[in-house]
Amino acid sequence: MTTNATPRPKVVIIGGGPTGLYAGRTLVEQEVEVILLEKESVPGGLATSHRKQGNFYDMGVHMLHEFDKEIFEDMKGIMGEERLPVQLDAKIRWAGSFYRYPLQFVDMIKGIPPLKLAWCVMGLFGSQFYYKMFPRVPKDAEEALIQLYGNPLYKFFFKDFTERYWGFPTTEISAKFITTKMPRLTAVDVLKKVFAKIGIKPSKVEAVDSALLDETLHYSKTGAEMMPRRLVKTIQDEGGQVLLNREVTTVQLREGRVVSVTARNAETGAEEIYPCDYCISTMPMPWLVQRMDGEVAPEVRESAGFLRYKPITVHGLLVNKPKCLSALYIYYRERIFHRVGDPKNAGLIVTPADHSVLIVETTCEEGDDKWNATDAVRNQIIEDLEIEKICTRDQIVEWHVMHCVTGYPIFRLGFEEHFDRVKAHLGAVTNLRSVGRQGGFTYPNMHGAMRMGANAAKSILEQAKIG
Ligand SMILES: Cc1cc2nc3c(=O)[nH]c(=O)nc-3n(C[C@H](O)[C@H](O)[C@H](O)COP(=O)(O)OP(=O)(O)OC[C@H]3O[C@@H](n4cnc5c(N)ncnc54)[C@H](O)[C@@H]3O)c2cc1C
Repeated sequence: MTTNATPRPKVVIIGGGPTGLYAGRTLVEQEVEVILLEKESVPGGLATSHRKQGNFYDMGVHMLHEFDKEIFEDMKGIMGEERLPVQLDAKIRWAGSFYRYPLQFVDMIKGIPPLKLAWCVMGLFGSQFYYKMFPRVPKDAEEALIQLYGNPLYKFFFKDFTERYWGFPTTEISAKFITTKMPRLTAVDVLKKVFAKIGIKPSKVEAVDSALLDETLHYSKTGAEMMPRRLVKTIQDEGGQVLLNREVTTVQLREGRVVSVTARNAETGAEEIYPCDYCISTMPMPWLVQRMDGEVAPEVRESAGFLRYKPITVHGLLVNKPKCLSALYIYYRERIFHRVGDPKNAGLIVTPADHSVLIVETTCEEGDDKWNATDAVRNQIIEDLEIEKICTRDQIVEWHVMHCVTGYPIFRLGFEEHFDRVKAHLGAVTNLRSVGRQGGFTYPNMHGAMRMGANAAKSILEQAKIG
């Protein structure tokens, strides 16, 4: 709580995704004056759903994990009676079979032809042995994957999919992507434990846990939009402002500090200036560099230009079929889409009730055929949906296309030095925090993004000597 002796600082938050909203929530609790500026007409960033002709379509199915207990307990209160707990039920479609997600050892044994399986296990054993004898830091994603899984499994499971997903070879992707983003294969962990018992310890390269087989996720009848909507309310209830349709165009600096932020009001066309004592930015890191006034060294500008994001196009389909998938979502490795979700299975209300909503996710480049959802792309999607027996062309009654230019930060080979340079440049501005998925150029899930928002807020409270 602030006291009479401590004036209430004013904090401008750029971006109303999970990071910005949770930062706002943390600050208003300490009676800090918060103005949150969001460029879109709905809050939530990637983690939202859009209402189209009466139904809600997630920007890629979004469900909350419980991994961060403190955030989860708080969110439970915020989501209230709208929260729908749902058992994780996801699958991977691979080489003609379905596997539970995360991939399990027993499923792998059952699903892979015996000779191929033996080859993969031998490859894994070989790589574990080799990298124990000759440990080395992997030079790119390909080498990291081979260290983790062995050459046969890398070629069988990862190579083609990863390259199709990103649009360039694994040798051009940083190893850091594999160790900080790519979900670990629990099936392989089991084998590695067996090897460890006979003295072959796993290499130091590790992948991350992103989901658990017996996990409970949290969702709502209106999809992902509920969480940001309710977070906005908690901010407003405590006197904070959440202003939508405000794209931040300039961040003004004086003597190395942010003094104000200018936003374009999409409704009136006016430029609005918001003075502030502190600023939390969750907009993409390179955009922030471009939009800060004052001198920027050419090498910082160049590095900002190197940090790019992979856009996504998400197709929301209303389908005249009561149920399309036997899971919440399924990952596909050989199709034009990489994941299809059927959020009705998690409790989404669909109108009419005997229809389903399908969320079909693709990566793309801005302006390419997938981005433009050309007829050829739509036909390919339909063909793949039909092959997978998800639905037929005739059953699709509505088709909505959603985009996000900043779907995934691209950990391109060599990005680290550019990231460090931009981070140092932004870090020199003492009352600014650039955080979140876009602002931190990283891969948190929603709870991780909220944690980043909370931490940014707390560091400002400490700097302002509040709390
Ligand atoms: C397809 C997909 C599915 C996912 N599913 C899950 C899931 O099931 N569970 C989970 O926990 N996580 C999931 N995630 C991750 C989740 O989306 C992110 O963790 C989360 O959205 C990150 O929040 P953020 O606020 O950091 O970034 P964002 O959500 O990207 O929000 C940034 C916000 O800043 C705004 N902004 C940008 N520039 C400006 C500007 N100049 N002025 C004003 N506003 C601006 C944007 O409009 C946006 O609202 C998924 C991600 C993807 C891509």
